[in-house]
Amino acid sequence: MLSYDYHKPDSLKEALELMVQYKNEAAFIAGGTDVMVQIEQRKLKPKALISLRNIAELKRSDVTGIGGGVTHRQLQNDPIVQKELSALHDAVCNLGSTQIRNVATIGGNICTAAPSADTACPLLVLDARVVLVSATGEREIDLDEFFVGPGKTALQKGEILKEFRIRRFNEKTGSVYIKHTRRAAMDLPIIGVAVRISLNRNDVKCRDALCATEPISKIMGYFENEELKCEDARIAMGVVAPRPIRAKQAEASLTGKVLSEKLVAEIGEIAASESSPRDSVRGEAWYRREMVQVLVRRGIMKAIERVVRPEAVFYPERLW
Ligand SMILES: Cc1cc2nc3c(=O)[nH]c(=O)nc-3n(C[C@H](O)[C@H](O)[C@H](O)COP(=O)(O)OP(=O)(O)OC[C@H]3O[C@@H](n4cnc5c(N)ncnc54)[C@H](O)[C@@H]3O)c2cc1C
Repeated sequence: MLSYDYHKPDSLKEALELMVQYKNEAAFIAGGTDVMVQIEQRKLKPKALISLRNIAELKRSDVTGIGGGVTHRQLQNDPIVQKELSALHDAVCNLGSTQIRNVATIGGNICTAAPSADTACPLLVLDARVVLVSATGEREIDLDEFFVGPGKTALQKGEILKEFRIRRFNEKTGSVYIKHTRRAAMDLPIIGVAVRISLNRNDVKCRDALCATEPISKIMGYFENEELKCEDARIAMGVVAPRPIRAKQAEASLTGKVLSEKLVAEIGEIAASESSPRDSVRGEAWYRREMVQVLVRRGIMKAIERVVRPEAVFYPERLW
């Protein structure tokens, strides 16, 4: 059996000092849902575990930032995440089980850097930046620069992911994360797709029952004549490359264009051409590429729907 020391510091400073004392041969542990598996599999043999669970500085969650130590369950219940960061809310509602969400953290999900990490694509489309602290100082980088490869990040030895800085989005913006899995719960995605779209107008909200019940593709057709444009777009894909990636050509092709069903289908194709999935036990490469096309298309439609039908005025709950 492996044995290691265990520490539960109360501050970032204390945690960072402990890591220096162990000459970076300790491991930080938040919820432990990945770390303990790695220890069990002998992939990780730390001299000590330094728990981040008592550190209040990592628990902050407000309109501008989310602490690395915030659990998925807290995010699921957070009104700001529910209202303004829909893609992230979709992800945390479908991550693991309630038991996992109660302890596992967003910082742990990102630092593990699995290509399948459910919060990665939503945070990428929400333009998240990460604040990293070490015993020698603090730095801030784009999340896109943080992912280096499977299990590899820009995190340097002894650094702690303190928080995610998130932009504010207005009511012209809708975002979504679609997790495509073999079963409804406790499964990693075959692929995951997140989309954020900001429209050029905010006067497109449904005002009558017809708009509330018609398919969004039909509503888009009506708006086409009125030049409803995409002002800004982000598309991110998980499990289609060694790291979660953005479909930058697809984003560029969508930005500034009048929205139509035809355009949305083209964007799906461009995103699929930017993916480089591989065969795995969860799905074959050809299938993943096909599904990127389908889900990017669906994700764009759904993001638009969230602007057009933002509240449960007509729909008592979101249907898809
Ligand atoms: C049964 C089960 C189901 C799961 N289902 C899913 C799923 O559906 N989707 C999904 O994406 N994941 C899933 N996971 C994986 C896991 O739960 C998540 O990745 C989780 O978010 C990890 O968070 P944690 O706090 O438990 O991380 P930990 O295990 O504590 O840490 C993970 C890694 O991150 C480092 N770390 C943690 N916090 C910080 C920080 N603030 N700064 C620096 N380094 C840090 C640790 O040192 C470690 O290397 C599942 C795991 C299990 C066991």
